[in-house]
Amino acid sequence: MPLRDDSKDDTILAHAGRDPRANFGVVNPPVYHASTILFPTVEAMEQAQKKRFFTYTYGRHGTPTTAALEEAVARLEGGWRAVAAPSGMAAVVGAIMGFVKTGDHILVTDNVYAPTRKHCDEVLKRFGVAVTYFDPLIGAGIATLMRPETKVVFTEAPGSHTFEMSDIPAIAAAAHRAGAKVLMDNTWATPVFCKPFKLGVDVAVHAATKYIVGHSDAMLGIVDCTEETFLTVRNAVAQLGYSAAPDDVYLGLRGLRTMGVRLRQHQQTALTLARWLKARPEVERVLYPALPDDPGHAIWKRDMTGASGLFGVVLKPCSKQALSAMLDGMELYGMGASWGGFESLILPSHLEGIRTATKWIAPGPTVRIHAGLEDPSDLIADLERGFARLRATN
Ligand SMILES: *Cc1c(COP(=O)(O)O)cnc(C)c1O
Repeated sequence: MPLRDDSKDDTILAHAGRDPRANFGVVNPPVYHASTILFPTVEAMEQAQKKRFFTYTYGRHGTPTTAALEEAVARLEGGWRAVAAPSGMAAVVGAIMGFVKTGDHILVTDNVYAPTRKHCDEVLKRFGVAVTYFDPLIGAGIATLMRPETKVVFTEAPGSHTFEMSDIPAIAAAAHRAGAKVLMDNTWATPVFCKPFKLGVDVAVHAATKYIVGHSDAMLGIVDCTEETFLTVRNAVAQLGYSAAPDDVYLGLRGLRTMGVRLRQHQQTALTLARWLKARPEVERVLYPALPDDPGHAIWKRDMTGASGLFGVVLKPCSKQALSAMLDGMELYGMGASWGGFESLILPSHLEGIRTATKWIAPGPTVRIHAGLEDPSDLIADLERGFARLRATN
């Protein structure tokens, strides 16, 4: 059955991108492993090639499995069509590369995901694209940074590690007046908690590796587009040679089915941890826009319907040994890159010397926590033992 137009998000998550009647009644779409796709006649092959990206012509350009994920994410987020990519970084790079050429200029938020920054600094600059970083709190003031050759404004809200909220609608309005496209990394909020196209965004990118896959076991990206931006992004992803692997796409689809309930639980546990941490003597402040006294709270409330489980904690000054004693001994929190899986994580954020448009000033070290699906009281007890080790070592 096609989904009704007024279907709510949880219904879309359960039903979008699958058609059991087309698949012997099997609930989930099959995993198509494909490179070659055969055509019965020259005429049929030529017709298919004319409809490239709207039919199946070659494994690299997608299969019914890829199309199922793309359809589900676009439907959920409010995009026209989405493009799967082999990682979140491939989604970021594919989206940016579609819109810039030598001589162009791109504006990038100063709190952007660090590998995105590295791509801009080391790849875009090498190909003659000028890069300027902007204060995440700039809002409509971004108009003063726009140049005739500015083609892209790359946003991420809240930004990686520091979680400031940008005023995306104000930035988008200024960018559009100057003829630039607005890209947004929407990985943190996911297509459930933020609908970027309603905020004026032209292209939304996701590290599906995080909450969409949701189980710390597959790398996947997705770029969600408006009708106007779709072919530009689709061609760029194809020309870069990106192709998402079928089993990973399947894991993305499987993760999507439970993402609504998972996110609500991640949010609830993150709030519980954040409130507990705020009251601790070892903590300077908690960086989480869902907290009412967070500087980004008003914008978060206006632009998003929820908060995911990732947040930052600025500690009071302490020695490196004390921080290591706390983190090295954690029993439930793993230490490692990525997030969005079912398990809790903690790591030190290295913010020194990264920013160029703004300065990150904090009295002590900053750590990033991912609130997993464990019982929050066990997670709090683990943190409490960690703080005891920190105090004993400091
Ligand atoms: C992890 C992440 C990415 C990159 O995703 P990968 O799948 O690891 O390549 C991009 N943006 C943000 C905000 C991320 O957290």
